[in-house]
Amino acid sequence: MSSPRIEVLIPHDEIQKRIAELGKQINADYGGRPLVLVGVLKGSFMFLADLVRHINAQVRIEFIGTKSYEGTTTSGQVQLTKDLDKPIQDEDVLLVEDIIDTGLTLNYLKHMLSQREPRSVKVAAFLDKPSRRRIDVKGDYVGFTIEDKFVIGYGLDFEQRYRNLKDLCILVP
Ligand code: 5GP
Repeated sequence: MSSPRIEVLIPHDEIQKRIAELGKQINADYGGRPLVLVGVLKGSFMFLADLVRHINAQVRIEFIGTKSYEGTTTSGQVQLTKDLDKPIQDEDVLLVEDIIDTGLTLNYLKHMLSQREPRSVKVAAFLDKPSRRRIDVKGDYVGFTIEDKFVIGYGLDFEQRYRNLKDLCILVP
């Protein structure tokens, strides 16, 4: 069997330009208020690292872990694999996701974090795949809307590989 070919869907430069725009929008909306960025492991680590460099405010970085995917199909179940280190009560929270696909993860996390009485919870998602949505949730800051394709790179994996690619790519069998 031949190995799959990797094709670039969104090149690194385009990603960086869009993230700078998202940063501007976030700065304007929060007006310099302190923010807690909650990165959803592991897929969001690269997006979070680039986005946070455009935010002009005091930020705290937290990570939360969930699991819902096996291979390229969703199990439909969300599990918490890592919780926050510190409380978020009275804080402005920006949840940072790699991709909103079915919406199950985001829906679960938004509910869970809201119960901890933060001042606000908003969502920054690098990607949005609206055609696959099973629950009506939206990102407040979305990098790119994409078609129903399984993407890798820029933090996103296929069986834990390819996260280090600097472009967003697709695997062509
Ligand atoms: P959900 O279906 O709950 O909205 O998304 C759950 C998670 O599935 C995402 O955070 C992401 O890690 C993973 N996922 C969804 N679509 C893709 C995709 O096209 N590529 C990769 N690598 N992961 C995806």
